[in-house]
Amino acid sequence: MKLHLNIEPLSNWANVTHEPFVISGPCSAETEEQLLATAHLLKDTGKVSVLRAGIWKPRTRPGEFEGIGSIGLEWLKRAKAETGLPTAVEVANAKHVEEALAAGVDILWVGARSTVNPFTVQEIADALKGVDIPVMVKNPINPDLSLWIGALERINQAGITKLAAIHRGFSSFEKTAFRNEPMWDLAISLKTLVPNLPIINDPSHICGNRELLPFISQKALDLDMQGLMIESHIDPSVAWTDAKQQVTPAALSEMIDGFVLRKAESKNAEFVDKLAGLREKIDKIDDQIFQKLGERMKIVSQIGEYKRDNNVTILQVSRWDEILQKRTAYGSALSLEKDFTEKVLELIHSESIRKQTAIMNAIKAEMS
Ligand code: PEP
Ligand code: MN
Repeated sequence: MKLHLNIEPLSNWANVTHEPFVISGPCSAETEEQLLATAHLLKDTGKVSVLRAGIWKPRTRPGEFEGIGSIGLEWLKRAKAETGLPTAVEVANAKHVEEALAAGVDILWVGARSTVNPFTVQEIADALKGVDIPVMVKNPINPDLSLWIGALERINQAGITKLAAIHRGFSSFEKTAFRNEPMWDLAISLKTLVPNLPIINDPSHICGNRELLPFISQKALDLDMQGLMIESHIDPSVAWTDAKQQVTPAALSEMIDGFVLRKAESKNAEFVDKLAGLREKIDKIDDQIFQKLGERMKIVSQIGEYKRDNNVTILQVSRWDEILQKRTAYGSALSLEKDFTEKVLELIHSESIRKQTAIMNAIKAEMS
């Protein structure tokens, strides 16, 4: 399935002064000095294309610093005038949109806590009607692809065609090394559904710490994401918000130098030839996999009919456990990840159950 959103390429609206496309700046604008000093150092690296800063901060608990507010827009204006860097801020309601537009902010983004709420997203979309400005939509806090797509659609339907998504990771119950689980599959699914949508990775909110930033950034670049949003601060140790994950402009510059940029394609004839050969092999194997799956499902139907005729239940837990155990052992002997083997088996198994249930139901319908 593909979704057809009317979206312009990133190159239409982002002046990418250095590869990869990097948006950077403090989590929060705190003081005019902090914002201006950070902005100048970022500009001086020559590797940052857009200056970001949070002016209105959504906070988990009341009483925490909730952003410097509208005065920060004046500081951003000055930072832009002095450095020439275009600016980006988070907007969470119609008033934010109006103020940001009036202050000449170049790019707006919808934060993760807003994307979860269709009322909020619609309010922002309505405020954007008739305006030509790039908008980036962060993924919702919870791992729900439909919410993310829904928010992108609402903004797009308001007439915003300079649209991008920001992948900032998802909240998960399980605590891992990351502040927000990357769940790359969701970003990949979004890319597959809306291939013309630029996706920018935000390693800062995924990692929640400085140490993992290069690893997540490189992975995002390897997945062909179109840019990075990385939080930076003149002195991260005293930052008012997200202190653990911000980096100095100098550290950012060094990190960018360490990135390996790969191309989505190569025109080298030998490479193209070899890749085509390997893809042909994969296509053949995929055909065989589906042929075997078809054969398997036919046998499943036979079993279903046999169980039905003998009044035996569809699900036999002991049989399923046996399949799972044997196949994951076999899978690991073939160097397949246990998690992967289990996922494949679960898919096959649930389809088998569905087929057998249909057979049982058909006979019930016939009898009634
Ligand atoms: C931010 O970018 O500072 C921010 C609040 O991010 P998120 O919406 O991803 O939590
Ligand atoms: Mn932040």
